[in-house]
Amino acid sequence: LHVETQLGDGVSVPVDGNPAHYLISVMRVKPDDIVLLFDGRSGEWAARARDIRKRDLILECVSQTKAPESVPDFWLCCAPIKKGRIDLIAEKACELGVAKLQPVLTRRAVVDKLNLDRLHAHLVEAAEQCGRTTLPDLAAMVKLDALLKDWPQDRHLFFADETGGAPLTTAFAAHPGGAAFLIGPEGGFDPAERETIRAHPRAVPVSLGPRILRAETAAIAATAAWMTLNGD
Ligand code: SAM
Repeated sequence: LHVETQLGDGVSVPVDGNPAHYLISVMRVKPDDIVLLFDGRSGEWAARARDIRKRDLILECVSQTKAPESVPDFWLCCAPIKKGRIDLIAEKACELGVAKLQPVLTRRAVVDKLNLDRLHAHLVEAAEQCGRTTLPDLAAMVKLDALLKDWPQDRHLFFADETGGAPLTTAFAAHPGGAAFLIGPEGGFDPAERETIRAHPRAVPVSLGPRILRAETAAIAATAAWMTLNGD
């Protein structure tokens, strides 16, 4: 179960709302039962149930069951796309081990606002499902120009260019180390954006093959490929 409270030895975590309903009415948790908790930063903790009432309970941390895990150094930078599709990207990015999800606003984006709370909820749900104890860092949306301007010098920026580039595996093998993958929106990057990205010193244009993939397919395929070669 994910909680916002920072976990640690002896920490008491008050639980109410849906999580409490799930524990009390669905899982039928009884006093002294153990529930596994994570806060996204402190690994996984076994917590003992106490003070169980109708709609709330207390979970008291008794021991750490998993140390905080380190995830591969891979960021996914994607233009915002329609609701269900960006939710899918968040879910799969979390499952595949992405360290950071960075929304990037581009000119042809059909969506220019993102509900970060909803995306965070999808990340939490995916982490609970796949047993991940460290949540991906979910960054606020930035414009493409700002992303490129402040780009860290030591991080490769693989750029999914539907007009062509190096094959994925060749590009990944030639550029080991911390990486990010940039995917365009439904309408793609406009030609000027493409030129700007290509001119960036850390950018590596890559192709995902001869077919035009939906943005979410491109994001999942590229992440899975990088993780296969570099992930734990
Ligand atoms: N409207 C664009 C077009 O027809 O050229 C397609 C955009 S595609 C749906 C969304 C994004 O996925 C692209 O901007 C690109 O980043 C990535 N993408 C999709 N297929 C790709 C491919 N075969 N190679 C590289 N990138 C691809």
